[in-house]
Amino acid sequence: MQRIDRAYQLFFQHHNKGVRPPNFRKRIKYKSFTLKQAGYKFLAGNQLRIGKRVFKFWKSREIEGKIKTVTIKRNPLGELFLFVVTDYVDQISAIMTGNSAGFDFGLKVFLSCSDSTNIQSPLYLAQSLKQLRIAGRKHSTKKRGSNGKEKARQNLVRVHEQVVNRRSDWFWKLAHQLTDKFDYLFFETLNLKGMQRLWGRKIGDLALAEFLKILELVAEKKSKIVSYIDRWYPSTKTCFECNFVIDKLGLNERYWICPSCSTKHGRDSNASRVIQKVGASTLGLGDVSRQIGAVAV
Ligand SMILES: [Zn+2]
Repeated sequence: MQRIDRAYQLFFQHHNKGVRPPNFRKRIKYKSFTLKQAGYKFLAGNQLRIGKRVFKFWKSREIEGKIKTVTIKRNPLGELFLFVVTDYVDQISAIMTGNSAGFDFGLKVFLSCSDSTNIQSPLYLAQSLKQLRIAGRKHSTKKRGSNGKEKARQNLVRVHEQVVNRRSDWFWKLAHQLTDKFDYLFFETLNLKGMQRLWGRKIGDLALAEFLKILELVAEKKSKIVSYIDRWYPSTKTCFECNFVIDKLGLNERYWICPSCSTKHGRDSNASRVIQKVGASTLGLGDVSRQIGAVAV
């Protein structure tokens, strides 16, 4: 299994009190620098000495293992972040459940799972997206070159970072939940252009890709499998029960009835079941119906 170095993100508390690491004098030229074995020392009380200066930082988690590199980065607001990479290897003991599941990115819900559960984006994410829209609007109405414009820009950067961080936290948690529950997780290959057409917001597309990246990382650590079925497979239009494929299904049709076996399907939940079925048979996971039975909690 691939070894993943543990990285820490620490935040300097006194970034705005005139203290700045020596390399930051040329503000535009240097946005980050990395120290390897020498040039720094961690002191008691969350303090780091670089050269002759001492910086105080806020620590997101305890540092474990031997430190390999220390990187300091400055964001567009001039705030300093400290990244520490150590040789510590995360040991995640995963329990194999024997379960597999298919997932469909829904229009209304974040993910529709073949075990009949829907995973909604948390409310606080919707709220912070609203804040982001408000901040964007304020920024666009301010006069170019004015003080107000610069303030609005800083606010926009801050709100955007908040959204990204909150969402990323949620993605990690969700990735752990899903990989605890399932050994095999099937998705359709992302069609970003199609997603953009459906979602109409760029932020949504990027988020899906980011989530899958995180999920793959977590799955790898737990020896679980994330697998993709061909995105040209008509998962939305195929009947999960009898494999009948209907001609077309409009974007607004949330439900449909199979003309062959009369089963009433929810659009996303049927698709996620088809994805599970196709994925499981592609990987040769044996009796597909038993697999599906196993996850129908
Ligand atoms: Zn059918």
